[in-house]
Amino acid sequence: LALANPGVPGLHPYQPGKPVEELERELGISNSVKLASNENPLGLGPKARAAIERALPDLARYPDANGFALKAKLAQKLGVDAGQLILGNGSNELIDLVFHTFVSPGQQVVYSQYTFIVYALATQAHGAEAVVVPARDFGHDLDAMAAAITPATRLVCITNPNNPTGTFVGAAEIEAFMDKVPAEVLVVLDEAYTEYVAEDERIPSIDWLARYPNLIVSRTFSKAYGLAGLRVGYMVCHPELVEVLNRVREPFNCNSLALAAAEAALDDEAYLGEAVSLNREGMALYEAFFKEKGLKYIPSRANFITLDLQQDAGAVYQALLREGVIVRPIAGYGLPTCLRISIGLEQENRRCLEALAKVLG
Ligand code: PMP
Repeated sequence: LALANPGVPGLHPYQPGKPVEELERELGISNSVKLASNENPLGLGPKARAAIERALPDLARYPDANGFALKAKLAQKLGVDAGQLILGNGSNELIDLVFHTFVSPGQQVVYSQYTFIVYALATQAHGAEAVVVPARDFGHDLDAMAAAITPATRLVCITNPNNPTGTFVGAAEIEAFMDKVPAEVLVVLDEAYTEYVAEDERIPSIDWLARYPNLIVSRTFSKAYGLAGLRVGYMVCHPELVEVLNRVREPFNCNSLALAAAEAALDDEAYLGEAVSLNREGMALYEAFFKEKGLKYIPSRANFITLDLQQDAGAVYQALLREGVIVRPIAGYGLPTCLRISIGLEQENRRCLEALAKVLG
């Protein structure tokens, strides 16, 4: 086969967790709880559901290819111009679009060890060279990342809070980093989990766009807004970047239901508030348990927490599965001793902790 570039032959597909039904069948169990994909345990919010129902009669028609209404609402909420926004089929599609549009084979992409795996996959799929910067305390070492930039660097990717570790870098550190990045190097600041960060710690990333025309802020409706299955995310950046990204973007990349639901979700403050407080309470429950049991974990600002068993985590993962608790082993991220647990509903968290207590003895 003739492939697009030398990166493709060595590429391995993204490994999503197995569907719950398949796992249950394999293990001969039922009523399992899935705490593996950082989804919103509340399910679809009422306003999003109503908007989906209202949109159903129009499904024989194409969606609005420019997502006018959703972009208008987002622009107003974020205090940006609609021309600074681009919508995607999940933020994942937009990450890929940034690579398609701006990264050529042989150019360097800088990212941190233990970060969202899609950055590594996209780098390789585009034949670019990965510059993986060793983590500091499981999170981004921004000084080292700035030092890793060379004339061949095209893109730097920062995930904040980070997946799979939940670590967080504060505003002052990111600002100092941005001040060191040459103007021709683009920076994707992936804020998929930003809604879970306490308000007094949140980063004014959108305000920075006026100062840093090379900054691209990425967000999603898949987490705190509870729309992972619909696939909708967005990026906010300089209008010139949006303009070129739009030339490469597929028309109609966001479907009508996703557009309608996302717009309604932005208005559902009650749902968002509940999701965030449920997450805060769940996080406190896990932390208290880990402390009590003397287990090592990585403090997280996201909707998941990573437990470090300090021994191969595979057997514990399997034993939890047999208890009907599905979490995420992250050996593929270079963390074979860790399990990532998504924060669920209170009863799901309690089941997970009971199973952990049983399995760990
Ligand atoms: N960025 C990060 C850091 C993520 O963890 C995820 C989802 N796991 C995404 C982006 C992609 O999310 P989506 O495509 O659903 O917007």
